[in-house]
Amino acid sequence: MRFSAHHRKKMGELFGVEGFAKTEKCNVCGGTYFERMLPSADNKDLYFIRCRRCNAITYNLVPTAEIQKKIYENYDYWGDAEGGQYTFSGEDRFAKHLYAILPVSRDAGTIRILDFGGGDGSLAKAFAENHLNSGIDADIEIDVVDYGDNICPDSGRMRFRKTFPISSLEDGRMYDIIIASAVMEHLDNPGEAFRILFAHLKKSGSVYFRTPYMYPLYSLMRRFGVNMDMEWPDHIWDMGKEFWEGLPGIPGIGEGLKCVLSRPSIVEKTLKSDFGVAAASHIMKAPWHLFHGWPYVGGWECVYVKE
Ligand SMILES: [Zn+2]
Repeated sequence: MRFSAHHRKKMGELFGVEGFAKTEKCNVCGGTYFERMLPSADNKDLYFIRCRRCNAITYNLVPTAEIQKKIYENYDYWGDAEGGQYTFSGEDRFAKHLYAILPVSRDAGTIRILDFGGGDGSLAKAFAENHLNSGIDADIEIDVVDYGDNICPDSGRMRFRKTFPISSLEDGRMYDIIIASAVMEHLDNPGEAFRILFAHLKKSGSVYFRTPYMYPLYSLMRRFGVNMDMEWPDHIWDMGKEFWEGLPGIPGIGEGLKCVLSRPSIVEKTLKSDFGVAAASHIMKAPWHLFHGWPYVGGWECVYVKE
């Protein structure tokens, strides 16, 4: 789902300005001290803020939880062709990428996977197929947390279930692998989601996150007079290296997690599907591989393992 100026106009018609609440505390870590950053180029009342405690970047104004719920309930209203389905171009490519970086015990009798924001489960299915094709002797249970009823049918050794919202996860149901790709940036309360996800992660289990990390690039482009669309208010969080590497140290959220991978995220578009976007992404991310302080990468991914 992309929120363009067109979407924002529709949101204004639906909910009015009262649909937005002032950010008083950080809904990741509970911190109340923010660094004020750039204002939006086209709305002087809206500006970026960075939580001084956890380094999450958000806005001074965000949609209320109630409005977010209405947005999801009125999903069809936006008329997006994508319709809540998975938007990564090349599911198999992404599934292989995840297979390469997410460790799982080789002797697992049943591998249980949770895909948070996983649409109809087809990414998790492609990911699981990599395991089955490797010859591992395991049944695979895939739980998807997402709105809507679409879910892949059971097939072979794979079984699928769907639930929503995240707080509806069954108590005590534990996962070997959790995938949360391009979902945290949408949430009113990522802190609650983090706590629930980590509580459902088995010991030695791994969790993958991918989020936008656009602010450094956005602020650089502003200096050149270019106003990038940050997709506010669809995206209300920007989470990069400092955030992801620091989260395990935040009391009450990240205890017992070890960050085993933290780097610019896999390029979302393929050169074949969208040459311009893919080429630009590769070019922006390339210097990071030579010079790790380079922040102009557009997106970040990380893997934690529970110790
Ligand atoms: Zn915070």
